[in-house]
Amino acid sequence: MQQEIKVIKAQTPKPKPDEDSLGFGIHFTDHMFVMDYHVDKGWYDPRIVPYGPFEVEPSLMVFHYGQAVFEGMKAYRNIHGETVTFRPMDNLRRLNRSSERLCIPKIDEEFVWEALRKLLEIDRDWIPSREGTSLYIRPFIIATDPNLGVRPSYTYRFFIILSPVGAYYKEGFKPVKIYVTDKYVRAARGGVGYTKTAGNYAASLYAAEEAKQKGYTQVLWLDACEHKYVEEVGTMNIFFKINGQLITPSLEGKSILAGITRDSVIQLAKALGYDVVERSISIEEVYRAHADGKLEDVFGTGTAAVISPVGVLNWNDQVIEINGGQMGEFAKLIYDKLTGIQYGREEDRFGWIQRI
Ligand code: PMP
Repeated sequence: MQQEIKVIKAQTPKPKPDEDSLGFGIHFTDHMFVMDYHVDKGWYDPRIVPYGPFEVEPSLMVFHYGQAVFEGMKAYRNIHGETVTFRPMDNLRRLNRSSERLCIPKIDEEFVWEALRKLLEIDRDWIPSREGTSLYIRPFIIATDPNLGVRPSYTYRFFIILSPVGAYYKEGFKPVKIYVTDKYVRAARGGVGYTKTAGNYAASLYAAEEAKQKGYTQVLWLDACEHKYVEEVGTMNIFFKINGQLITPSLEGKSILAGITRDSVIQLAKALGYDVVERSISIEEVYRAHADGKLEDVFGTGTAAVISPVGVLNWNDQVIEINGGQMGEFAKLIYDKLTGIQYGREEDRFGWIQRI
C-alpha cells in the first residue's frame, strides 16, 4: 500500500500537561492518524488531522456488536534525547492477528509504521522526558457500517491516538494484591482471549470490581474449563519464579494475550542464563511452592507497568504473601534491564528499539 498521507495541522496547539501529574490515558496530543476502509476500495484516505471528536450515526455497528480491535505501545524519550519505540512491529502484527479473528480487514504493517513515525514526528514535543514517563500509542479499528444486522461490517475506521502518560512507579515499587477468581472466566479455548478486542475488557470489569471491593488491585484468571490453571492478570501476563526456574503459562490454547513484554522477559531471562519454561501451571502448584518455601518471585508483565510485582495472592480466601510484600530480586533485575533498554541506559542486543 503506497498512498500519500495527507497532513492537516492543528490551528491552535494545546498547552502541554504537567509531567508530574500525567496519569494514564487522560491527555491527548494535538494530532491523530485516521484512515478508512471500504470493502470495494480497501484502506483509503490516510491522513493526520487535529485530534478531536467526530460525528457518527447511533446505528454504528461497533456500538452494538463490539467489532473492534486495539493495541497499546509506547514511545520514549531516551536519556540521549532520542525518540524511540519498543518493538512496534510486534504490536502491528498482533493487531492484524486480532483483526483476523474479529473479521476486520488487515492493515499494511509497513505503511502504518510509516504513518505512526510521521505522527510521532509531528507530535514529538508531547513525549514527556522524565524517566518513567512516555507517550502511550493507541492504534484501534472500529466497524463503521450504520447497520443493525449481525454480520461483519463492510466499512471500518482506523485511528492512532497518542497520550502522554506518567511514571508508573513515581513513589517506588508497590507490589499489587491479586485476587484469584474461580467464579468468573475471561476466555475459553476457541474464543477471542488471544486478541485485543474491546469485549474482552468489558467482560473483565465485573470480576475486577468485585476484587477491588475486597481490597485487591486486579484479578488473576484461571482456565475456563477446569478453573485450575493460571492464565493471566487483568492487563498483564504472569510469571512465577519457583526454585530458580522462571515459569509462565504457555500460549497454547490461545486463551491469553501474547504479551510483548512477556516475550521480552523470556528472551532477556534466557540471555541472562535463567531457566525459562512456558507451560501450564496450576494455582495449586503455586500455593504448594509457597508452602515449600520455593516461590521466589511472582510478577506481572505489560506495556503499562513493564514489571508489576505481586505481593499478595488470595485464592479461595487462602492468602499468601510473596517476598514479604516487597519486589523480588529477579523482578527488579528484569525491570532495570528492560527499562534500561527502553531509556537507552543499556545496549539493545535484541534489535527491539526503533528510533524515530
Ligand atoms: N494481557 C492482557 C489482557 C493485556 O491487555 C495486556 C496489555 N496489552 C497484556 C497481557 C500485556 O501485553 P503487552 O506486554 O504486550 O503489553
